[in-house]
Amino acid sequence: WHLARALPFINDGQIVKWFGTNTDINEQKEMQRQKDEFLGIASHELKTPVTSIKAYAQVLGAMLSQEGEDKKAAMVMKMDAQLNRLTNLIGDLLDVTKINSGKILFNKVWFNLNEVIHDVVLDLQHTANRHILVMDFGETGDIYSDKERIGQVLTNLVTNAIKYSPHANRVIISTRREDDRVTVSVQDFGIGIPEDKKDKVFEQFYRVSGTKQHTFPGLGLGLYISNEIIRREGGRMWVNSIEGKGSTFCFSIPATLKS
Ligand code: ADP
Repeated sequence: WHLARALPFINDGQIVKWFGTNTDINEQKEMQRQKDEFLGIASHELKTPVTSIKAYAQVLGAMLSQEGEDKKAAMVMKMDAQLNRLTNLIGDLLDVTKINSGKILFNKVWFNLNEVIHDVVLDLQHTANRHILVMDFGETGDIYSDKERIGQVLTNLVTNAIKYSPHANRVIISTRREDDRVTVSVQDFGIGIPEDKKDKVFEQFYRVSGTKQHTFPGLGLGLYISNEIIRREGGRMWVNSIEGKGSTFCFSIPATLKS
């Protein structure tokens, strides 16, 4: 898009002509707005019934367990696990809507970064089948940030590290503090990312297609959301990767001293 094409033609201070590009941009903006509005309404409408089904599934599971119907209870537990996946997908769609409309809120508090990362990693270790999540922590001290959102970013990175390294059995999560910043990195030994796709993976809905042997499920939103969260926390996110060898996703955020 060429800036000069949209500039008005000035004659004696009068606008005599305004070229078409401006209209195209307005149309694009309107289409984007309608898309965001649809995404917002659809994800909100999906959330309500899913929340309700989940509540019923949990009650049903508990009832079946009490009655000694273990097989049936196990099936309901599987339903519940799938409902969690659905809830997370809907949560991602809602987050994208919030980010795109500038309505994402941050609830900042002081907390010890290593403690929060440790808890999130332990939680994820329960659901990881073959991968061992190795923690390599340097002293981070306290940071002033949104605990939940930082946990969400880490969950996204570790879940991806596991998902995109189906033949590896290790993911390394490291933290470091340098002067006024803390850096967190998540290293995997998986499929890696082709050089020309490295920047694109942070775009919304962008996915590198799977390998011949594997297809990987997903919407292509986790990294977009994570990057936007970190940007809004005053930090930045990047990736080092070698195709076929593995990737290291890192983010750094300011760690201002407590006053
Ligand atoms: P999703 O995993 O749902 O597709 P993400 O936004 O988390 O969405 O990631 C976008 C894309 O970036 C993925 O589809 C995948 O191609 C690539 N990607 C993300 N993390 C990794 C990783 N650890 N290793 C290799 N590729 C990755």
